[in-house]
Amino acid sequence: MFKILQKAISTGIVTTAYPSKPVKISEHFRGRPSFDFEKWQDARPAEDVCPTGAISFCDDGDSRKVTVDYGLCVFCGLCAEASADQAVRITQEFELATADRRNLVLTAEYTLNADGTHRRLRALHRDFSNPAADVERVGQTAREKIQKLLGRSLAIREVDAGSCNGCELEIIALNNPIYDIERFGIHFVASPRHADMLLVTGPVTRNMEFALLKTYRAMPEPRLVVAVGACGISGGIFGANYASLGAVDKVLPVDVYIPGCPPRPQALLQGILLAVGRLRETRYDERP
Ligand code: SF4
Repeated sequence: MFKILQKAISTGIVTTAYPSKPVKISEHFRGRPSFDFEKWQDARPAEDVCPTGAISFCDDGDSRKVTVDYGLCVFCGLCAEASADQAVRITQEFELATADRRNLVLTAEYTLNADGTHRRLRALHRDFSNPAADVERVGQTAREKIQKLLGRSLAIREVDAGSCNGCELEIIALNNPIYDIERFGIHFVASPRHADMLLVTGPVTRNMEFALLKTYRAMPEPRLVVAVGACGISGGIFGANYASLGAVDKVLPVDVYIPGCPPRPQALLQGILLAVGRLRETRYDERP
């Protein structure tokens, strides 16, 4: 017993201070790709290598409309490698959760040279902006809000609707001493009847559609739905096919989307805290 205490004292506190303090990230971590649309001379090489279709474009005469969808992006970094003009680079940004799917889509319009390269950026319809970037404030108020609205802890039921289990590994990490999600008064439960939030991973496979709907309908209101990872947001690398319906929001109303492949634990934490912030809005939810 003495040895255990000695070990605990010498180890000190291992729990991350995030979101109260910024998180220290490994230099090898790949976050969202950032696009310098002014500098970008050609979207074609990046579109060519993008494995999920997160980068796409449509040419019309001498103009091109380029779309970047972070809901499809798996943060592989291939677009940055393929862009010789250095206009695309991989960042370490992971706080990407948003309540509005449209926030994850950027579009840029270019006029073209005869060889198909970009001559001039004509319009940038949406630059990336994260409405939930103030994670510290969200974190500080989350526990208070949970207590005020629910009068108890927030309970999460997780459903794997067809994932590769990458997201599950990160979700499991939320319960370890480093990320310790219970410090916010949030815990995972086995039954949807005890759950306030449904965390859904994977593209929704046709075999899991009914089970997912049943789980959602078994939850008491107010109930929140969080789509986790590129697969949950858009179907990811699998998309919609004979076995998969794709995005979670094709089956259920989604409150918050958490991009990543898989999203790291802090990204999950940010998305969950963001969803807690929406609890009041959905309290008298009349959706099916
Ligand atoms: S980082 Fe994202 S946008 Fe770039 S190639 Fe990979 S999936 Fe496509």
